[in-house]
Amino acid sequence: MSFKELNLIEPLLKALSAEGYTHPTPIQEKAIPIVLQQKDLLGCAQTGTGKTAAFALPMLQLLSAQPIQKSTRRDIRALILTPTRELAIQIKESFQSYGKFTALRQAVIFGGVSQGKQVEEINKGVDVLIATPGRLLDLVSQRLVNLQHIQIFVLDEADRMLDMGFVNDVKKIISKIPVKRQTLFFSATMPSEISNLANTILSNPVRVEV
Ligand code: AMP
Repeated sequence: MSFKELNLIEPLLKALSAEGYTHPTPIQEKAIPIVLQQKDLLGCAQTGTGKTAAFALPMLQLLSAQPIQKSTRRDIRALILTPTRELAIQIKESFQSYGKFTALRQAVIFGGVSQGKQVEEINKGVDVLIATPGRLLDLVSQRLVNLQHIQIFVLDEADRMLDMGFVNDVKKIISKIPVKRQTLFFSATMPSEISNLANTILSNPVRVEV
């Protein structure tokens, strides 16, 4: 199987060869077609499996199929929630590399640093926002981030979110994004608390395991 056979568009294929990726990993082979069909996904996968590209590539493809809005008036159309600053930065860098031949823009926000620069980046206009839960809620409550135009929502490392005590924040964030959306849910493990959470936020998900 090649990336081309997964029906990825040329700007993404070009970025993948620039990265030196020759073949999709198993999670990418399974998840990319499901996400491109705009279905909800329940992914059981650890970091290191190529999980980030498994959601980032088809998301970039879906978003770039829509007309790009004017920079300063761009709505945030995709949100990725992840538990740590390190993961958030890594995911932002992945979106940046895979999306470098598209016109899409992304920003990352996390706590522990001042919010000024992060808000500035968002105000330049972004299509994809990568965030840790606390800082995102903070900016939403200050009305500096608007989640009303989110079309694709990713919950990354759901089990770690639970371990780190972020579940209530995650639920609050979900209550602020449109009900009509595509949701991608990833967790390395699926204890009952996690599958219960998945059941409440996914709609007819396709389950993928690697
Ligand atoms: P992740 O599981 O998303 O953290 O990815 C783990 C590592 O695998 C990252 O360093 C990626 O850059 C790399 N990677 C992801 N997909 C591929 C691929 N198809 N071929 C080669 N490397 C990849």
